[in-house]
Amino acid sequence: MTTTLEKIGQHLQCGICRDRYKEPKTLDCLHSFCKKCLENYYTIRYKDALKVPCPVCRQEMVLPDTHIQGLKTNFHLTSIIQEISEQEKLARSEEKNKCQKHQGEMKRFYCETCQELICSSCAVLDHCKPRHHYIDIGEASLKYKHSLIDMISDFSKEIKGLEQSLAASSQAQEESARNVTKTVKAVQDKAAKMRAEITSQENKLIDNIQQIQQDGKQMYA
Ligand SMILES: [Zn+2]
Ligand SMILES: [Zn+2]
Ligand SMILES: [Zn+2]
Ligand SMILES: [Zn+2]
Repeated sequence: MTTTLEKIGQHLQCGICRDRYKEPKTLDCLHSFCKKCLENYYTIRYKDALKVPCPVCRQEMVLPDTHIQGLKTNFHLTSIIQEISEQEKLARSEEKNKCQKHQGEMKRFYCETCQELICSSCAVLDHCKPRHHYIDIGEASLKYKHSLIDMISDFSKEIKGLEQSLAASSQAQEESARNVTKTVKAVQDKAAKMRAEITSQENKLIDNIQQIQQDGKQMYA
């Protein structure tokens, strides 16, 4: 199925690279091409030529003194491309937020027990209280933002604690270099493990928050 967005998108392709226009420049014939594409076209085939034909309709035009750089930028095209990209992003996030199991339903809740976004049918059918605990996505967004901040500050505290114990044990065990090395290694291992854990938790939470925010945005749009 071709959506309206996809149809419009097809008109935003540069005739040279077949990709979406980047910095579109317009020729006298009103055909537009990416600035880069025109620059390549000009340098490879028409360097120092007085007239350059349009790559599509072959209408010749005299380039300005500054060559491709001096051509008019197609601002209309630029703003349409911007708008379409926004709409595509929104459509993608909408698609992502649709419940796979229940047609036509959006994921509006976050089940804390299963750590996943669910729709209201999922909530009733598969995530029944009291075994599951789910909250509204708006609430979840706030909550997880805070817990992420808490977690990071807890982590800094723990690292500080580790550093202190490291200093203390170095002093106490000065005579036994091997013990110190062992302690240092243990502390380093623990810190590395915690860092890995915190990073994976952080990524998970950031993912959740982003998805939740996208949900929220389109719910209140
Ligand atoms: Zn191009
Ligand atoms: Zn043309
Ligand atoms: Zn569902
Ligand atoms: Zn659940």
